[in-house]
Amino acid sequence: MLRCQDVSEQATDYMEHALPVRQWLAVRFHLLICSMCRAYMDQLRKTTRLLARGHLPPPPPDVERRLLDASSRPPVEQPPPEPPV
Ligand SMILES: [Zn+2]
Repeated sequence: MLRCQDVSEQATDYMEHALPVRQWLAVRFHLLICSMCRAYMDQLRKTTRLLARGHLPPPPPDVERRLLDASSRPPVEQPPPEPPV
């Protein structure tokens, strides 16, 4: 029985029918019984379709400025780790 992690690792090969038949069927069976992996696979399929068409939504207009602002700021100080008790 495949785990969800196995399915996510093989998702692309599954969609491209690049898995051996037995492995493809194992993923297929997992998808029948696992709604989380079905949702994941559905999302991956939609994303792949959008990428193939070049139809990605444009980034927000201020994204470039925010990225530049963030990269020019000094790194955030991390608090010192708690001493062991
Ligand atoms: Zn699953």
